[in-house]
Amino acid sequence: MGNADIVRLFEEFAVLLELTGANSFRVLAHSKVARAVESSTVDLVELARTDPKALSDIDGIGSGSAAKIVELVSTGAVKDLADLRSQVPAGLPTLLALPGVGPKSVRLLWQERGIVDLASLESALGEDRLQGLAGFGPKKIQNLRDGIEFLKTAVGRVRIDHALAVAESAIAHLCATGVVDRIEFAGSLRRGKETIGDADLVAVAQDAARAMEAFCAMPGVNKVLVTGPTKSSVRMQDGLQVDLRIVPEQAFGAALLYFTGSKEHNVLMRGRAQQRGLRLNEYGLFADDGQDAPQDRHAPIASRTEAELYEALGLAWAEPELRETRPLEQVCGHAPLVTVGDVRAELHAHTTESDGAMPLLELVQRAKDRGFHTIAVTDHSRSSVQANGLSIERLLRQIDAVREAEARVGGIRVLAGSEVDILVDGSLDYPDDVLAQLDLVVASPHASLKQAPDVATARLVRAVRHPLVHILGHPTGRLVNGRPGLEPDMHAVIAAARESGVALEINAHPARLDLRDLHARMAIEAGVPLAIDCDVHGRDGFDVLRFGVQVARRAGAGPGQVINAWDATRLQAWIAARRGR
Ligand SMILES: [Zn+2]
Ligand SMILES: [Zn+2]
Repeated sequence: MGNADIVRLFEEFAVLLELTGANSFRVLAHSKVARAVESSTVDLVELARTDPKALSDIDGIGSGSAAKIVELVSTGAVKDLADLRSQVPAGLPTLLALPGVGPKSVRLLWQERGIVDLASLESALGEDRLQGLAGFGPKKIQNLRDGIEFLKTAVGRVRIDHALAVAESAIAHLCATGVVDRIEFAGSLRRGKETIGDADLVAVAQDAARAMEAFCAMPGVNKVLVTGPTKSSVRMQDGLQVDLRIVPEQAFGAALLYFTGSKEHNVLMRGRAQQRGLRLNEYGLFADDGQDAPQDRHAPIASRTEAELYEALGLAWAEPELRETRPLEQVCGHAPLVTVGDVRAELHAHTTESDGAMPLLELVQRAKDRGFHTIAVTDHSRSSVQANGLSIERLLRQIDAVREAEARVGGIRVLAGSEVDILVDGSLDYPDDVLAQLDLVVASPHASLKQAPDVATARLVRAVRHPLVHILGHPTGRLVNGRPGLEPDMHAVIAAARESGVALEINAHPARLDLRDLHARMAIEAGVPLAIDCDVHGRDGFDVLRFGVQVARRAGAGPGQVINAWDATRLQAWIAARRGR
């Protein structure tokens, strides 16, 4: 459990209060607590355990909220929240996942039209039953139809950061209670997919029954779906299913390989075994005697570690992120992939000048503390009014402030940059003579993200061809499980980037992961460099790096293909070369 769990608690409170028609003051109070916890650098779970009185000393947390935090930390649940949940149809909050739909609209749909989940919304749309509902004009109704289509492709899957937090806290709990000797997560979580269907854990335990008991009773479990000596499945309060498998120690590698998948990779591996007269299953690699369950009759040829299994099949170990549909020859023994430790520069970060939470000096200091050699300050441009984008005057003043910050902090290169809006027609939000004064320009689309594909392609290609642009930021503007974003012809965008020497960003925020893995791989194969950027806004903004790195790894990127992994000299030369300096 961590601050993120507390944030989710208060966010859920706010949503449920709004759905049940509580007054807006109470709703707002709960979202304010969520924001306060989110930006707090104190470990509030620890504080609730050691000094609960001190919780209400923290800015934005009142005594009522403090009591809820203590209740959550000590019992794993909050009674008031359970009461609220019981007042709302279980499927109602799922409607909030529809792009552009907030609690107010959902409440209207529920109260006025009896809609309680996606299925009933879909049939109401089919029967034209939303006519006359206040605020639901033809455009909004069309958006709902589009949103349902979009959600159908994502439904049942949660974002990787969410699944990872649940899996890591389950692992921490099982390790802390001493019931497992060894435990790792497998499945799509280990392969680093952007969304996860359910979280798979594989463990070794002396006493399997005790381990299963601890697993089913861990904090956050809402329902035990199935429990047995080798496999248990639970549904967490937030809906995610977590599976725990207990395997014999000598079969750990085979089980990890099997449960990591993908299905396609496993099929290829089993085929490879067959060609060699062998049988591969979750217990190990065996001689094939033509009968099932070879583990009952034979000792395994290999089973203890994944590397041993690959080796026995004449292959080098494959990075989990590459275990998708690609042929074994392409993924086994692949050149080293970029790691979090390779990344030494952040090229997309916001300060309090636009919508960031950190003043300039703090941002620079934190980047330095992480061992980075370069940080680019890229606040929003003037069209991003809702993000307090900078006027030309403010931007020019910021350039001076950046020079000063670089001198003051010392030991880190600080680049004066901008995340300049790509306007609807592909032109940029500042005139060229202003952009030319910046060290680094990240150009990103923020508005008009529903353009027709050909219009979007022309827009992005024009931005990429702009001679003052270094990086195309979050190229499609999509949100994972949130909105589809632009759907340009990525081949055309990548070709333009290659011609003009622009890098394409993998925005590491788990809500974005934009470029997505497939497009990042297309960029790598075309020889276009990637920038893995955290798009830092808050104090913990750098922590999302792992998710961006994982996308790059899924794309097969090595450190040489990621500009943030270059040393300062090489990066500086690349940045300067874009300006013909
Ligand atoms: Zn942006
Ligand atoms: Zn940004």
